Amino acid sequence: MSGRTILKSRVVLIGPPACGKGTQASLLSAAFSIPHVSTGEILRKERAAESPIGLEADRYAREGHLFPDDLALRVVRQWMDNRTRFIFDGFPRTIGQAIEFDKMLFERSIPLDVVYLLEISDEEVLARMLGRLTCSKCGAVYNTRFHALAMGDACPKCQGSLVRRSDDTREALEHRLAEYKTFTQPVADYYTSKGLLKAIDVEAARDEVFQILYADMKEEAL
Ligand code: AMP
Repeated sequence: MSGRTILKSRVVLIGPPACGKGTQASLLSAAFSIPHVSTGEILRKERAAESPIGLEADRYAREGHLFPDDLALRVVRQWMDNRTRFIFDGFPRTIGQAIEFDKMLFERSIPLDVVYLLEISDEEVLARMLGRLTCSKCGAVYNTRFHALAMGDACPKCQGSLVRRSDDTREALEHRLAEYKTFTQPVADYYTSKGLLKAIDVEAARDEVFQILYADMKEEAL
């Protein structure tokens, strides 16, 4: 029996630092032409531009602390504007953000379709984070474990310089993992109670994880 294909187009990806949220979100965004938004990435660009909101964010990110809810929500409200389709990566990260986000979506009558929880061990997080390189120009992310690239090399996409993120240090990682466990894991429970959460094991290779997410977003409705 062949059914209709229903595309999930309001999607949230949550998971520990360096679990591949950004990579998977941009692959899914390109595959389905759904806008990808990362609060971390927006605020990194604001920091690079030394805007007031960027300088405010910098104080927290440098030490691996979460931004205050109010700051993350301001960024999201601004980004949402009239959009009705999205793949959020790294938002919501706290229960407070999740509740405010629900209100925002309810007011616009655009309920979430799914929340993917990307699961990975602490050891793998550490290894991925310490190998991560980000392009200072286009934001593309690479990993020295998977690509033959080093700090200072030219980005294969835009020739910008590859750098380590200022929060990709062992000390900042410890804070980020601890904050993830304290603040973001309860967000997963919150979405479980709403029947929206799907846990995905992301220890596998990038393309394998992508295929799982791709197939789930493009579910056949019988
Ligand atoms: P990411 O690019 O998602 O890894 O985010 C980098 C850092 O930005 C995080 O470790 C947090 O310090 C901060 N951040 C990004 N998004 C949020 C959010 N929704 N709430 C609080 N802090 C955030």
